[in-house]
Amino acid sequence: MHIAEYMSANGHEQFAVWTDPAVGLKAFIAIHDTTLGPALGGTRIWPHKTEEDAILDVLRLAKAMTYKSAAAGLPLGGGKGLIIADPRKDKTEALFRSYGRFVNTLGGRYIATEDVGATARDVEWMSYETRHLVGLPRELGGSGNPAVVTGFGLHQAMRACARAVWGSDSLAGKRVAMQGFGNVANSLSEHLLKAGAKLVVTDISEEARRRARAMAGVEVVESPDDIFDVECDVFAPCALGGVLNERTIPRLKCPIVCGGANNQLAEAVDAERLQQRNILYAPDYIVNAGGVINVYYELGRPYNAEAAMATAARIHDTMERVIAMSKQRGITTAHAADLLAEERLSAARRVRVVR
Ligand code: NAD
Repeated sequence: MHIAEYMSANGHEQFAVWTDPAVGLKAFIAIHDTTLGPALGGTRIWPHKTEEDAILDVLRLAKAMTYKSAAAGLPLGGGKGLIIADPRKDKTEALFRSYGRFVNTLGGRYIATEDVGATARDVEWMSYETRHLVGLPRELGGSGNPAVVTGFGLHQAMRACARAVWGSDSLAGKRVAMQGFGNVANSLSEHLLKAGAKLVVTDISEEARRRARAMAGVEVVESPDDIFDVECDVFAPCALGGVLNERTIPRLKCPIVCGGANNQLAEAVDAERLQQRNILYAPDYIVNAGGVINVYYELGRPYNAEAAMATAARIHDTMERVIAMSKQRGITTAHAADLLAEERLSAARRVRVVR
């Protein structure tokens, strides 16, 4: 693979590599764009089969963070870290401290936080070597569980979708089908139940389904794959990526898709497939920005929870702007979200030139 060529074609600024054989560490950090601020993004721990897969993954994820923070109106750029390791057996304090030293060499251009395969404990280990990170536990001055703000932001986005489809923000009496009943879905469900919505949930974990069964106002779908066929007002993917695809989109029986999972569309063309079925798709990175908003308010600790909630509340207006843009320009909401982010980035680039 021609890394520099790929980076240049996709607007990437920097790609850094770190190895430390003494602790078994091979890691990459991709800094996609720092126009708006330092590149913030999680560090994933994953045993990729080839280095090429790992490099492409971290570059793609870094770019996605640029768009997420830009559209959320944060003064942050996009970056991502990757440790090539098995999160179930390779994690040690020495490994994360070495990785923390790697983060430190970038002098704050990259700000790390947890991602798939990492925990708050791992971030704490990194923090012994660098202050350029967020996502510490609340007891250490950090922002703790991001799902609280993510779920709140999702509820705001869903209200904006409801207004576009039914003329009112109210979700009272609406039926929301949730795929996955983990951290984000739990937080979202609290807001929805309070708003008078009815929930239909599923999860591949029996423990999660048991928890859902015990809740009033919640119906449980016992075979996870059946969730796509549920008649509902909103389908909320809150588990994995790639769930909206050629096979599942024809099955959906809802006018709105709005959920917390990252990378919900299997392919770009799936945004068009949804539009052709007259389903309003709430772009994932617009509506799940509560997570990055939450950690942003941890920079310069202590964490400011009130500011995080106030900023996440703006996801409602951002979603309305995306819907308006998609209608005005005759494009999908996914395309409108990208344009919103790109327009903010290019406006900021002009300010930089003037300065
Ligand atoms: P989580 O691990 O707490 O919950 C995910 C749940 O989905 C688990 O209970 C799992 O058993 C279930 N699941 C997995 N595959 C499934 C399937 N095929 N069908 C049904 N259920 C399935 O994770 P989370 O923190 O709630 O995150 C959920 C999604 O939201 C992820 O895609 C994550 O990247 C994204 N996200 C999370 C945050 C956050 O603040 N935690 C922020 C932004 C985006």
